Amino acid sequence: MSKSIYLDYQATTPLAPEVFVAMEPWLKDNFWNPHSAHNGGRKAAAAVEAARAQVAALLPPGGRVIFTGSATEAINLAIKGCGLPVSARASEHAAVLDCVEYFGGEVLAVGNDGLASPLPFAEGGREGLICTMLVNNEIGTIQPIAKIAASVHADGSLLLCDAVQGFGRISIPDGPDMIAISAHKIHGPKGIGALWVRDGVELAPLLHGGGQEQGLRSGTLSPALCVGFGSAAALAERQMAQDAKHVSRLWDRATELFVEWTVNGSIAHRYKGNLNIRRDGIDVGRLMSECRDVLFSAGSACASGSGRPSHVLRAIGLSDAQAKSSIRLGFGRYTTLEEIGLAASLINKAAERQLA
Ligand code: PLP
Repeated sequence: MSKSIYLDYQATTPLAPEVFVAMEPWLKDNFWNPHSAHNGGRKAAAAVEAARAQVAALLPPGGRVIFTGSATEAINLAIKGCGLPVSARASEHAAVLDCVEYFGGEVLAVGNDGLASPLPFAEGGREGLICTMLVNNEIGTIQPIAKIAASVHADGSLLLCDAVQGFGRISIPDGPDMIAISAHKIHGPKGIGALWVRDGVELAPLLHGGGQEQGLRSGTLSPALCVGFGSAAALAERQMAQDAKHVSRLWDRATELFVEWTVNGSIAHRYKGNLNIRRDGIDVGRLMSECRDVLFSAGSACASGSGRPSHVLRAIGLSDAQAKSSIRLGFGRYTTLEEIGLAASLINKAAERQLA
């Protein structure tokens, strides 16, 4: 096989050609600092604001978009910046869990399907910040964010939604007080994320300096990255229905081809571009090295390579052995049915050899 098959869309996505074209002038002739007062600076600032509006178009009304260097930074800004006691579910991304642990917050259990009950703090009735992701990066579970937000607000708390895996793929429900997103998961460039903040929510900055981004994130913005994010968001908005239909067809084919495997997490409440499956007795490390031309993951990109079983699979009740015999296949806009077929044939043949 001359070309590898990319099935790791939760880790990152290919840059859309349209996004590359939109970014290019801002990496070449239009190199200006968007915070400069001259004509070039004003043009760059206008491009940044146009991009901000394109990103905001996929987010609820009544808030502002603060550009950051990544979703990890956006999550840190939200948790550290609001200064409230914090709580999260055990199935959250490390960017949330590590921040919660750093501040001595609470980490609560999830059900076997990966769904969080709307209950925020363990004892209830405490005001603070609750973190719940929209779509899980490892098992694709979609959380009922609007319902969770209502219960969080009834308790006098705020909701931070890590929408990194849902933004641009499914519509973002209204309800959260803050939303963290990342460009590189929606066919945009790496190195830029954003925090959406509902009007009236007060935050202290993480970074101090020139006072950019309304004083919340000092540092010169990259117009190229902002334009790339905006253009990826606009493309996602135009293509969302078509992308969803395509992903659903890929899911149907993949689940037909991996019948010997068990799906991890909820099937009903799931983003279908994520197929996390396990097969008893499979050594995933060996499987990956025998299928080098298929680029897939043994869990989250951060956890793979550590040798530790995925904390999300453990959180939904899988044993260490089951978690270690699980693989994550992530597909999307540019994946073809033919690639799914070929990847399934290579992975299944390698699995059969192991079990023979
Ligand atoms: N949250 C989730 C659910 C993710 O999948 C990721 C990336 O893997 C992040 C947060 C962190 O995003 P970034 O790479 O922009 O820091």
